[in-house]
Amino acid sequence: MRNVIVCKKCVMPSSRPRVVFDEGGVCNACHHAAKKQGSIDWAAREQEFLRLLDQFRSHSNSWDCVVPWSGGKDSSAIAYRLKHEYGMNPLLVTFSPLLPTEIGISNRRALIESGFDSILIQPNGLVARKLAQRFFHERGNQKVAWDAGVTAAPVRVALAYKIPLIFYAEHGESEYGGRVRSAEAEKMRDFTEVIEHLVGDDPQNWVDEVVKPGDLEVYLYPDRKDLVDSGIRSYYFGYFFPWSSFRNYEYISDKIAFETDPFGRTEGTFTNFDSLDDKTDPLYYYMQFIKFGFGRATRDASRMIQNRQLSREEAIEYILKYDAEFPGRYLKENLEYLELNEGDLHAIVDLHRNSEIWVKENCQWKLRWTIE
Ligand SMILES: [Zn+2]
Repeated sequence: MRNVIVCKKCVMPSSRPRVVFDEGGVCNACHHAAKKQGSIDWAAREQEFLRLLDQFRSHSNSWDCVVPWSGGKDSSAIAYRLKHEYGMNPLLVTFSPLLPTEIGISNRRALIESGFDSILIQPNGLVARKLAQRFFHERGNQKVAWDAGVTAAPVRVALAYKIPLIFYAEHGESEYGGRVRSAEAEKMRDFTEVIEHLVGDDPQNWVDEVVKPGDLEVYLYPDRKDLVDSGIRSYYFGYFFPWSSFRNYEYISDKIAFETDPFGRTEGTFTNFDSLDDKTDPLYYYMQFIKFGFGRATRDASRMIQNRQLSREEAIEYILKYDAEFPGRYLKENLEYLELNEGDLHAIVDLHRNSEIWVKENCQWKLRWTIE
């Protein structure tokens, strides 16, 4: 059994998939953050960004780039900056949340009304639901198919409309701890790598008695050859500017009527500005806590410590208070959607508890480590 350790600088445990720790017990996301604050020449990166945009900027006001867009603070800040600071004309592409929230709809509307075109892809609701149910049972993750849809949608739209450039937000594996294959991988999204990742989980394997091959079109990533021939290039915005979700939130709420969580904070965490668009997200993050032993508060706190926006002591206080919070606010909607009763849900939760993470003491589940 592996011993889980917690990063000495942030609060991320080593149970996070693919994260790498050094001998001193510091995670690679913290090393990446130190690099962002130290050795990276941001002025040179912005010059590189300007040169890139000059190659692609449309002078006829047609779409010149695609922004995969949830309507959240990060993708909205990127779209806004591209249009208003850099003279680009982005097309926003959204793959519909499973259970959209009012606030997510309202935040999307606010940006569109400020002057953007957007395409909303709404997959077949019956198929989306069947897949969510199946993957919640099998993997404790109702968003497996949704993830495939989100991955495929912007690329499919870029291909269909012959738009040569896509801007993703941040490279998650560098920013939050994970496997960084090469320096280039922090800058450009490699189609081949995306396709390789999908090999074990090709949507074409999801066919069953309910889901037919034709139902899966919306989840399929385009052919590698079509992508190579198209010349489409995908970059991470976070490579060119020091990435911070909190600063994106501050930026976009200054520009449009961006609303935060109406309850003052989001379930499972202390923040109120992140991942607000899907009623199923609190359950998704709770299942991460069950599978990997870190919840939404740990995730948010680690990012904010790395960006010097929160102390480690405050972070620990928040984690002890919120990480294990059961997602009750939208429980009824989630149970209905997944066609479960509460007892079924708890049985599935326990099925996905990992024995490297959890131990049962006096009939109570406890994490195998304490954070200090
Ligand atoms: Zn760390």
